Amino acid sequence: MNSFDYFSPKSLSEASEILARYHGEARAVAGGTDLLLKMKAGRLAPKAVVNIKRIPELRGLTFNGHLMIGALTTLEELKRSPVIHEHYPALAEAANTMASVQIRNLATVGGNLCNAAPSADLAPILIALKAIARIAGPGGERRLPLDEFFTGPGATVLAPGELLVGLKVLRPDGPALYLKHSPREHMDIAVVGVGLSLQLKEGRCESARVALGAVAPTPLRARNAEDELTSGPLTADRIHRAAKLAAEESKPIDDVRGSAWYRRRMVEVMTRRGLETLITSNE
Ligand SMILES: Cc1cc2nc3c(=O)[nH]c(=O)nc-3n(C[C@H](O)[C@H](O)[C@H](O)COP(=O)(O)OP(=O)(O)OC[C@H]3O[C@@H](n4cnc5c(N)ncnc54)[C@H](O)[C@@H]3O)c2cc1C
Repeated sequence: MNSFDYFSPKSLSEASEILARYHGEARAVAGGTDLLLKMKAGRLAPKAVVNIKRIPELRGLTFNGHLMIGALTTLEELKRSPVIHEHYPALAEAANTMASVQIRNLATVGGNLCNAAPSADLAPILIALKAIARIAGPGGERRLPLDEFFTGPGATVLAPGELLVGLKVLRPDGPALYLKHSPREHMDIAVVGVGLSLQLKEGRCESARVALGAVAPTPLRARNAEDELTSGPLTADRIHRAAKLAAEESKPIDDVRGSAWYRRRMVEVMTRRGLETLITSNE
């Protein structure tokens, strides 16, 4: 591993100032479960590492009609939080599919999103739940929908000096669910991830979110599938058509975990199954 400068700021403004000073060549570290592995493997060699774990503004998990998730919330906290279980069970289920208890105790929500792996498990379910990203940097705070946060594999909209402070998630207006397909049930990254949320009323779907992971350079919203779901009564044919559209919208690649053909097929199967589960559970 190359040598690097190390900082441990106690405030957001101090951290932003340090990160900005290195013009994109400094990295924040939270749990370190992605960053340190890349540094040890020589895939990343930042000139500075900024430990953000002492910054109080990045902490907290509170519910007051809507959910505020601090970027430093660990995956284990997400999995265990009574508030999440009560109001956002799909998020707790997603956290439960991730890594091991040791990793989940270190790994953070902010790290999972800012690492921007196409397969990151929290992205599809948080996009399905219409999460808003809270970003702060030298220019102040800005907010944007999480589906606009990712720009490529390992890349986000964050400018040098900016940090993800946390997420705001409104109370869901209907059922939601996350399905992950991976060869091993635990300690394995997704071959395909599907996040779904629906607002259902009298046999129709008033709004739908279909978010896909591991099948494109970034987590992806299948907008044609969403439009199909809201275009008329929720018949079996409509659900099949929506699942097919989701598969057509995905842009997977062949890699060691699965072929593009297999991934696209799994998107269709998982989207259909997920939609059927949500609709039946709501009857
Ligand atoms: C054995 C193992 C199993 C795993 N299993 C899974 C799995 O099942 N599913 C899955 O999705 N992932 C998995 N991961 C990946 C990893 O654990 C998660 O992505 C984790 O949430 C990363 O969080 P972290 O706090 O450790 O991030 P870090 O390693 O600290 O940071 C990751 C990146 O995000 C940046 N960053 C962190 N926080 C912020 C912030 N607030 N603002 C701006 N930038 C920030 C860092 O600079 C770095 O570039 C696994 C990893 C391991 C080692």
